[in-house]
Amino acid sequence: MLRPYLVDSHCHLGDAAFDPDREVVLERARAAGVGHVVVIGESLAGSEKAVGLARSTRGLSATVGVHPHDASSWSAEVQTRLRELLAAPEVVAVGETGLDYHYDHSPRDAQRRAFEAQLGLAAELGKPVVVHAREADADMVAMLRGWGGEKGAVVLHSFSSGADVWEAGMAIGACFSFSGMITFKNWKQTARLTDCPSDRLLIETDSPYLAPVPHRGKRNEPAFVREVAARAAVLCGEALEVLAERTAQNARRCFGPRLGTAL
Ligand SMILES: [Zn+2]
Repeated sequence: MLRPYLVDSHCHLGDAAFDPDREVVLERARAAGVGHVVVIGESLAGSEKAVGLARSTRGLSATVGVHPHDASSWSAEVQTRLRELLAAPEVVAVGETGLDYHYDHSPRDAQRRAFEAQLGLAAELGKPVVVHAREADADMVAMLRGWGGEKGAVVLHSFSSGADVWEAGMAIGACFSFSGMITFKNWKQTARLTDCPSDRLLIETDSPYLAPVPHRGKRNEPAFVREVAARAAVLCGEALEVLAERTAQNARRCFGPRLGTAL
């Protein structure tokens, strides 16, 4: 049987939850057929850590950005440092950025400011941007509509938003990335996977959060992208290998050829 080459397009591998056993976690990912992991930066410090990991380990790439939870930390200095980091070959995208009005860990105007600046940075540098959207649909739609970068360069990660965000994403050729949420019993958006244009579907773990069934409630890890892939394959009516290859190719198209470097 052909070995699948799975890409985990969104993993917080720099999270402290992985400090005790990151090497073992990556070994399990390799054994599960994971070829590449996109390590997400969610703050300046987290971005530096993600870049360090991607620099020292084959099969890892990094994104750099400031998560909406951390948007209060946004400043001109942060933007300057992110711009420097974005020049490194290991760094494939801006993000994770976006809007989260569910937790409101940062004031909404600060979230909008940081998101707008990061969208602008990505468009200016011709990089993709990884977007987190939660319970902020109206503002999210308005900001996606203003996207000034390339078509296909916006990734709506762990997609679970409403119809308006879906349509705004479709209009700008966004990629839709699905997480372990698609394995949950209460997942109601199967049509989003089947309606998603075949070349814009991505899969991810969002580790250490959102562990898929049958690991729900435990720490999530990149090896579990296999469960996400298996479920997506069932929902799309494809073999696991076909779904894996398709989503890996999509990830390469979106994030660049570095995604073809195996762990
Ligand atoms: Zn994330």
